[in-house]
Amino acid sequence: MLHTSTDKTLNSWISVPQESDFPLQNIPFGIAAKASCQPKVCTRIGDTVIDLSVLASEGYFQNLDAKVLESFDKQALNDYIALGSEVWSSVRERLITLFIEDNPELRDNKAIASKILSPLGENVMYLPVRIGDYTDFYSSMEHASNVGMMFRDPANALLPNWKHIPVGYHGRSSSIVVSGTNIHRPKGQIKFPDAPSPIFSPTRKLDFELEMAFIVGKNNSLGDSVSVDVAENHIFGMLIFNDLSARDIQNWEYVPLGPFLSKNFGSVVSPWVVTMEALQPFKTAGPVQETEVLPYLKFSGDKSYDIKLEVCLQPEGDVPQEICESNHKYLYWNISQQLAHHTVNGCNLNIGDLCASGTISGPEPGSFGSMLEICWNGSKPLVLNDGKTRTFIDDKDTIIMKAFAVKDGLRIGFGECATTILPAKS
Ligand code: CA
Repeated sequence: MLHTSTDKTLNSWISVPQESDFPLQNIPFGIAAKASCQPKVCTRIGDTVIDLSVLASEGYFQNLDAKVLESFDKQALNDYIALGSEVWSSVRERLITLFIEDNPELRDNKAIASKILSPLGENVMYLPVRIGDYTDFYSSMEHASNVGMMFRDPANALLPNWKHIPVGYHGRSSSIVVSGTNIHRPKGQIKFPDAPSPIFSPTRKLDFELEMAFIVGKNNSLGDSVSVDVAENHIFGMLIFNDLSARDIQNWEYVPLGPFLSKNFGSVVSPWVVTMEALQPFKTAGPVQETEVLPYLKFSGDKSYDIKLEVCLQPEGDVPQEICESNHKYLYWNISQQLAHHTVNGCNLNIGDLCASGTISGPEPGSFGSMLEICWNGSKPLVLNDGKTRTFIDDKDTIIMKAFAVKDGLRIGFGECATTILPAKS
């Protein structure tokens, strides 16, 4: 029997709290370890972590090739992803079948189940993928327009290329870390407008960027392009991505080649990769692209995703306060267009590469995806519950991003992507 993620009537024998991002229909993939254990490939239902390596060694994947079983015993998802989409589907189907409420196979085998299942709180989560190359797009028209209005010309906020090219740049993967990793405030060159020369200082304009990222799931050879129609077949899944940015450092360094040290001191991902299969029910139409695009960027059907996004700021010793709500569907350029554009010149993408969306802002001020926009470059301070204000992120503030999709009673989510900003190192 083939189960699909659209069947919201399926329940698991593992308890799933109300409003959980992780029902039986999600089956995300991550790397987790209990105390003093090796990190391994895991999935999650509700707040229970499921060790796929032990599940395999106990014989619950008998129809799968030995290579699949070996891939579960690794400290990154790359080897599993490399097995391809047919394997992803069969593993997903097997897991849904095994954990469906009326299947006694593992449910009634308490001794073995206790070796395979553990509470989330007993696990440490690791970076899920060994990230090869990292690309950051700039695909939200509202974000690009806001930045253009603030720093260039309000009448011509978008640069002439923007509606023709999914603009992007190559970032650095070594400083991408998993949620829960804290980041020190970076230092660098800052040049004030009326000063003759720059100073060296911790950034005074530390910002988050609310983004989502996809993980490349299939290689394309150097010289080959991937068409927009099949681009999604080259994507394994998605993550929340907080692309921390130092706006004052960025403003001085970015001419003429783009951001450098203002962006590569730390970017944070959520720990569970939600597969494209799990996200299929949430496909939707994106913004209308009235400016005609070149043929290689033309697509048919729904290629955007209705995924709600939230950002909370939590001052030290206080509770999280929501400061922004956005949606993945606001992206002007969809992920298929991003991947098609990235490979149109023959650039080879590899399994485990990460492509981030760029800051995802919506049309209303409450949907802006960065402090730069929310506080309009410092001119409109955000007032917090305790009366204190922010224009950018303070030391010891925690930024928590959430992403989840809801349709017809089915909720599939990503959990959280959190990081606390520590003072600059002396
Ligand atoms: Ca970015």
